Amino acid sequence: MSRLVIVSNRVSLPTERGTKAGGLAVALDEAMIPGSLWFGWSGRRAASTSTRAKIVTHGGIDFATIDLGEADYTRFYAGFSNGALWPLLHYRTGLFEFRRDDYNGYRSVNVAFADALAPLLRPDDLIWIHDYQLLTLAAELRSLGITNRIGLFLHIPFVPPAFLHIMPTAAALLEAMTSANLIGFQTEGDRLNFMESLNSCINVTQINDRCFSHSCGQTETIVTPVGIDVDGFTSMAQRAANRPDTLRLTSSLVGRALAIGVDRLDYTKGLPQRFDAFGQLFRRHPEHLRRVSLLQIAARSREDVDRYQALRRELDRKVGDVNGEFSDFDWTPLRYMTRAVNRSTIAGFYRIAKIGLVTPLRDGMNLVAKEFIAAQNPEDPGVLILSRFAGASERLEDALIVNPFDVDAVADAIHRGLIMDKFERIARHSALLAAIRSQTAASFCTQFIDALKAAPLQAIRPGHRNGHYNSSKKSRRFLVRERNDASVPSP
Ligand code: ADP
Repeated sequence: MSRLVIVSNRVSLPTERGTKAGGLAVALDEAMIPGSLWFGWSGRRAASTSTRAKIVTHGGIDFATIDLGEADYTRFYAGFSNGALWPLLHYRTGLFEFRRDDYNGYRSVNVAFADALAPLLRPDDLIWIHDYQLLTLAAELRSLGITNRIGLFLHIPFVPPAFLHIMPTAAALLEAMTSANLIGFQTEGDRLNFMESLNSCINVTQINDRCFSHSCGQTETIVTPVGIDVDGFTSMAQRAANRPDTLRLTSSLVGRALAIGVDRLDYTKGLPQRFDAFGQLFRRHPEHLRRVSLLQIAARSREDVDRYQALRRELDRKVGDVNGEFSDFDWTPLRYMTRAVNRSTIAGFYRIAKIGLVTPLRDGMNLVAKEFIAAQNPEDPGVLILSRFAGASERLEDALIVNPFDVDAVADAIHRGLIMDKFERIARHSALLAAIRSQTAASFCTQFIDALKAAPLQAIRPGHRNGHYNSSKKSRRFLVRERNDASVPSP
């Protein structure tokens, strides 16, 4: 049986789990069976980027990590990944910042990942690369002569060509992605956008709506939405409901309803608009004054990126505005925490909430929506209010679907959820539960891995011998420089 090699920007060691916010580690838990290898960044910054991985084994799984040099980290992570790719692929062109030096740093870190990973690979390994930080890794592995099947899954959205053309190096990025045998997306919309962008930027031949050919063979695409372990999360929520933290929260509410939001503190999550909508609820429907509180747990994230610091200041102000306008001496409408909370504690909080507010301006999938559904008591469930711009909304149409930019409409949806009768809540919840059961963390992994095993192999890239690891850095640096010069045709 082939070994599975997972590659992601950040490796999540079992010893660090629990309070870390972010969907990727949750989604991959199911894939990490004993005998697998997980490779990526250690989370540590050093004087220079490591050339060899450190390996530790936990529960039969090998975790291989490298440290990043301070300058590489800044250009790769804060610069190109989170200053250019993240906003662009979330349709936030106003926040997009392109610096060629950052792009070069991104390419060099992908080269460093390939250099450190290649010596650990076996001929029949299946390599599964994750997310936007590693779009060019497959190409770097190929340039080292790695011929294994390589899959790439994009956890975040993909944009239509008109957006992608804003990226000066779009063609080089897309070209590099075609070195993967299989590319996975969260939704059909993302796949369609990718196919259209590809056709508009580089020279490929589309074979059908999910496969294209290029000079080295074929690349397949697949839609495999990320899910959660539904039964595991339900049991966790049931247990947590009687734990001290949940009981403390319940008693602090003194019979009032709880609305809950749980997110990383990120501008894609629509938090300012959510707070505005919550304030608007009391203006449009004053009968809810003193009757409901919103608990927003927003784990601080990417604090060394300027835009995230600015968002934090904006949210501090908005919380003050809402609470200043509506609080009473014994009631605070908005409770706001900017730290990560243990996942099992959050599960208990979801269970006692009447409203789950999941209103990102754009999101690849959004696992919080699925966790909220799994955590509910089926006999008296809360109501999920879900942004139409979260990938999750593609299959969760029994939630109250909202446009998060429309503050009045979100306020009305909260009102509707608060007064919804039990019969309708149960009907909606049972449909939502069936939907999340059809796409779990396990099915995400199985579907992707099965498709990767079946994907056609690609021809050997010119200049490299089959299966031979060749770390001729000189030729590869040239390759990077050459690719930097590729530019996108005018739209
Ligand atoms: P993203 O991957 O963009 O952060 P997702 O909604 O897909 O968004 O995944 C977020 C994951 O992180 C969920 O499992 C959620 O429970 C967890 N999470 C989000 N915010 C927090 C927080 N404040 N504390 C702890 N866990 C969090």
